[in-house]
Amino acid sequence: FQEDFLPMCGIIGYVGHQQAAPILLDGLARMEYRGYDSAGVAVRSETKGLQVYKSKGRLQVLSDMIHGGADVEGTLGIGHTRWATHGEPNDINAHPHVSEDGRIAMVHNGIIENYQEIKESLLKKGYTFASQTDTEVAAALLDSYYADAAKRGMEPRERALDAIRNMMIRVRGSYALGILFGDQPGAIYAARKDSPLIVGKSDNGSFIASDVPAILKYTRTVYYVDNQEVVELQQGSLRFFSVDEEEIEKQPVTIDWDANAAEKAGYEHFMLKEIYEQPK
Ligand code: GLU
Repeated sequence: FQEDFLPMCGIIGYVGHQQAAPILLDGLARMEYRGYDSAGVAVRSETKGLQVYKSKGRLQVLSDMIHGGADVEGTLGIGHTRWATHGEPNDINAHPHVSEDGRIAMVHNGIIENYQEIKESLLKKGYTFASQTDTEVAAALLDSYYADAAKRGMEPRERALDAIRNMMIRVRGSYALGILFGDQPGAIYAARKDSPLIVGKSDNGSFIASDVPAILKYTRTVYYVDNQEVVELQQGSLRFFSVDEEEIEKQPVTIDWDANAAEKAGYEHFMLKEIYEQPK
């Protein structure tokens, strides 16, 4: 890939009172036009814990594997369609990436430029890696900050935000992230820098997506996440934070396009839309 090339891929996330997996698959299907080489989901439930399914190839392969989502239990989760930049397209390099102890699942769009240097320091601390991706390094780094915050006696909620912020300070590059902590019932997290990401809210739950069409079936109330912002999503609430811990007031945008127009956002071809949406 080239330095100035931003991979597209699709990120989706849901927390609410409906089963998450079918919503994640549906959202990913609506972003297929963005292009991808593999797909995956991570869903959490009280009884089954963190369940991760991923596969190289079409979204249909993943969907068949989990019977349209029916095999996966839980009302919160994250999903991803990957456009490989670091490591070939295969089952292991597909997202979500899970920290070694299975505590954190992460989906990522973008490129962590200093992943090699971070990987080396984590290897020295005893972390091991299953994939060749930059994303797995970010997941392990987050895990190390999460463990540090626990040692400092932080409450679980506070600990998650603290670890995400520390990770954002340490990594260079571009990212839209969806994050799920196996020991945090009822919340998922999003963060972004230089890769697209929105969140949405409805009576049925809260959503993360790379693009509006992924969630338009469920809500028209959308918030645009700015660079270096973190979002804590719960069933009935969204909280926005800056990387330096400030809580941010954000106004929703009501989407008034229909789904078809939204998918193209006024451009005749998706490709054209993507080209115009690339940051300078
Ligand atoms: N750099 C990451 C990878 O290669 C994310 C690629 C993407 O945006 O899909 O897995």
